[in-house]
Amino acid sequence: MPTIEEELGRRSQLYSLLMPVMSQFVPGLDKGKGMYFLFIKCETKTPGGLLARPVLTSYYKSSHFKDRPFDPYTNYTSPNETILCQDSYQSMYSQMLCGLSQNKEVLRVGAVFSSGFIRAIRFLEKHWALLCHDIRTGTLNPLITDPSVREAVTKTLKPDPELAGFIESECGKESWQGIITRLWPNTKYIDVIVTGTMSQYIPTLDYYSNGLPLVCTMYASSECYFGVNLNPLCKPSEVSYTLIPTMCYYEFLPVHRNNGLSNSIAMPKSLNEKEQQELVDLVDVKLGQEYELVVTTYAGLYRYRVGDVLRVAGFKNNAPQFNFVCRKNVVLSIDTDKTDEVELQNAVRNAVSHLMPFDARLTEYTSYADTTTIPGHYVLYWELTQNGSTTIPPSIFEDCCLTIEESLDNVYRQNRVFDAIGPLEIKIVEIGTFDKLMDYAISLGASINQYKTPRCVKFAPIVELLNSRVVCSYFSPKCPKWTTPGLTQWTNIN
Ligand code: AMP
Repeated sequence: MPTIEEELGRRSQLYSLLMPVMSQFVPGLDKGKGMYFLFIKCETKTPGGLLARPVLTSYYKSSHFKDRPFDPYTNYTSPNETILCQDSYQSMYSQMLCGLSQNKEVLRVGAVFSSGFIRAIRFLEKHWALLCHDIRTGTLNPLITDPSVREAVTKTLKPDPELAGFIESECGKESWQGIITRLWPNTKYIDVIVTGTMSQYIPTLDYYSNGLPLVCTMYASSECYFGVNLNPLCKPSEVSYTLIPTMCYYEFLPVHRNNGLSNSIAMPKSLNEKEQQELVDLVDVKLGQEYELVVTTYAGLYRYRVGDVLRVAGFKNNAPQFNFVCRKNVVLSIDTDKTDEVELQNAVRNAVSHLMPFDARLTEYTSYADTTTIPGHYVLYWELTQNGSTTIPPSIFEDCCLTIEESLDNVYRQNRVFDAIGPLEIKIVEIGTFDKLMDYAISLGASINQYKTPRCVKFAPIVELLNSRVVCSYFSPKCPKWTTPGLTQWTNIN
């Protein structure tokens, strides 16, 4: 994304709004620290010689972040050096160590997206013994070799055998339910994005935190930062963002959904002439209507489609507030069916209710339109965690397959009934598969901060990676219900 120096100032301004809003709802946040897991990525150059790097890397490396004056509201447990370390293992290890060693001071915890925060908890699951050793002895593991990280962490670390013993006893317990509130007892909320695709992680976060408030403070992208949540303690499903009108020039393309079909499969980043005429200004959006966000930025993007669909949820004075609905271009399609992210997410949510009696949770999922079979079919890759000891019988997974199919739209179900689409398949993958997927994306250049599990995969090496870790698979045992809605649709389809 093209960017310019002054853009960082504009972005800092949006960050500076977050704590004044938060403090209206949670008092005393200046009396302790935030434990945030933040990362940078290495930089590359474009063929023309310009610097290319993820937006958050630019921000953390800028003086706006590095040289920020002391502010009790933005006092973090991670020293800058640990955030600015390019080696993701060393960065995570040292940030976790600093967070644990100051556990009583931590008042809020977070990362950018919820997936990043869960990755940190998984890291703790693997490495708590080493971390406790460092806390007990007040020394830093020799695997941490970055001299600036060593210097910064050693300054804050003191031998604390009592704390090390406490962390060991908590992490050694069989159940990790509530581990966040157990290890960081003064935490008031988790600051992570759980709107959009990230809502998938809510049950996992609730489990680890015993239901602490999940706070989504802002809505932003590499192209431009957009808005803030003025009611941060609301339920994740009710989060709305108030767009800050000075961040860019906003326009909105009304989204027309017919019979659950989304507008188009391939989404060009530019608008055609008819779409340009349909654009609505920020002051003219209508309550309840869904729009695709189109921005003209200071850095030079002109009428650029961000790819997000937003719904007008209400107004703060005259400023419209938007729910994040979905990313527009996530589509599964075999025949005339087109299943977007929201439809898929809702269908998966309905299906996982079958797992509740077994105390099992869906920790991650993605999907694939498998056209190697005839007819093609939808494949869902599920990673589960199970606390209960009862084995989940195959019939339950078959019920999950069928529930997903029943929850998909009329066109999908009709295609199933007429054999244009084969039975939906759920493939259960080994625990850790999605971490591997993230590692793979990171090795290709994705940033940990900005990584979002793709809800639909197409890239062959990723599909291969997923398939290589399948433990078992289940198919929908019968066709979903479908009733002829009317002759028109019947003739259209055939
Ligand atoms: P990136 O450019 O990698 O930072 O990704 C930006 C995209 O992340 C946005 O266009 C959204 O699709 C998604 N995103 C950012 N903030 C939020 C949010 N608060 N809720 C849901 N999705 C978000």
